[in-house]
Amino acid sequence: MVTFKDLPLSKELLDILEKQGFTIPTEIQAKAIPLLLSTKKIDFHGQAQTGTGKTLAFGIPLCEKIDRNKKNTQALIIAPTRELAVQIYESLEKIASHLGISMAVIYGGVSIDDQMRNLKRGAQIVVGTPGRINDHMRRKTLDLGKIETLILDEADIMLDMGFKEEIDEIMKHLPQDRQIWLFSATVKPGIAQIMKRHMKDTVSVRVSPSAVAASQTKQYYCIVPSRARVHAITRFIQSVGDFYGFIFCQTKILASEVADELTKSGYNVAALHGDLSQQQRNRVIRKFRKGETTILVATDVAARGIDIPDITHVINYSMPEDLESYVHRVGRTGRAGKEGIAITFINRAEQRIVKQVEKRFGAIIEPIDVPSAEDVIKKHLQEIPAYFEKDEKISEKVALEKLIERLSVEKLKQVTVRLLYDRFLSKLDLEEIPYTHVEEPDHEQFQEIFINRGSEDGITSEDIRTFVLQVSTVKPDQIQKIRVIKKRSFVRLSSDCSPDLVSALRGKKLHGQPVIVNVTCMVSDRSKEWRTREHDQRRGGGRRQRRRPPK
Ligand code: ADP
Ligand code: MG
Repeated sequence: MVTFKDLPLSKELLDILEKQGFTIPTEIQAKAIPLLLSTKKIDFHGQAQTGTGKTLAFGIPLCEKIDRNKKNTQALIIAPTRELAVQIYESLEKIASHLGISMAVIYGGVSIDDQMRNLKRGAQIVVGTPGRINDHMRRKTLDLGKIETLILDEADIMLDMGFKEEIDEIMKHLPQDRQIWLFSATVKPGIAQIMKRHMKDTVSVRVSPSAVAASQTKQYYCIVPSRARVHAITRFIQSVGDFYGFIFCQTKILASEVADELTKSGYNVAALHGDLSQQQRNRVIRKFRKGETTILVATDVAARGIDIPDITHVINYSMPEDLESYVHRVGRTGRAGKEGIAITFINRAEQRIVKQVEKRFGAIIEPIDVPSAEDVIKKHLQEIPAYFEKDEKISEKVALEKLIERLSVEKLKQVTVRLLYDRFLSKLDLEEIPYTHVEEPDHEQFQEIFINRGSEDGITSEDIRTFVLQVSTVKPDQIQKIRVIKKRSFVRLSSDCSPDLVSALRGKKLHGQPVIVNVTCMVSDRSKEWRTREHDQRRGGGRRQRRRPPK
């Protein structure tokens, strides 16, 4: 096995790596590092999936190449999002600072003045997002005239996010005599174009696309109708002791609603999406990183590339439309050889897509059922024997012992059961959602909305009916069915109801509290399948596009 010691690295750097616990390079590191150090300048393309250690693959050779006697900016690293820029900065800074190499990070959404000061102080390596780098170029606070190395990290995502012009502009300001190291998970046409226009004699290195398959992540798919998905999430959370994970949603609205619902069920949840300010996003990520929040409901773009060790689970609320995203999402867990679990919710008809993903990425994705109430109970009962073993010093022990001395065995049994129930089971949501395995209806046309109030909130179906009729334009005969369960209610409406219905109801007060409303499904005779509203809103004929075979 290759270790970092086998690579042509300085003693100084080897010591730093060892201190930080890095001993064995990942595949991309073992391939890229010797190459990037072998010549003075080399244009390079590294193709590797998320979580394969790309940051150090370029960071280590870059640190070796910086001329510490020259104080000017010698390297520029461009990353698609602020979070990624900060992450790269933080992991390289840990190495660079020990070598006396100065660094700065620049990204939008925060005051530009502090960044200007940092740049002025001198930064040999600058990390930034395309927009903000352009800003600083225009203000002449960032001089690219002496850049020796340009690194484009997650270049395909940058193109997806529409940063082509900004990148071209940056290229124009670089000296002729520079090297470009480009990293991407895929080779889309845009990537080939950058390579053709700006790079020469590029050496490409690719680590096996089956990196996902080889990673320690067990992948599952789970057939769940849209309306039962939040409930299914809670089941998966409850069926493991220490859930620490990402839940991925297609849209910002969905992400914040799923987060709201989980919060309402008592979980420690936050949402991460593009509508948050930079400060909010930083706070959310920081708390999640520290484990203060254990569940992060996120959209793809907001969470791309974010590296958080020890993530136990990734749940995909639905199969991502862009199959590449599947790899990025699943790559959030099973990082650096640790075991992880990825579960993707689909509807019955999407099993075909699962097959495509398996083939395309060489992965094995197995079916899994939503854990039943019994599964959850069983899991939690397992904790009880350890509880029995505990013998803690309790100051009121004597008083308590006196109290129970007089109890009969029968009574003791009764009390113990109740205490164990309170301690281990009472907080679980064991309500069976009756429709989890309901077959999809055939030719019926209807839509159904969901309201986050139920019988536990003192709501009756009559309350729901009155509420819907009062605050929207729905007519009494358009309400086909109302069901109220403990924490939720469902209203089935005929399909001719206005599509603006949901926004009309959203945030309106029911018994004095604003409600969360969402469309759980729309069924048309054309598709005969559950369709979530989110897809329809995003792209006119959503389904057909989504089904297009992968590029
Ligand atoms: P990528 O950019 O390919 O998505 P990162 O560079 O973010 O991957 O690395 C993913 C995780 O793996 C990080 O937590 C990083 O610290 C860890 N890591 C990287 N290289 C190694 C290594 N050689 N040994 C152990 N862990 C590593
Ligand atoms: Mg990365």
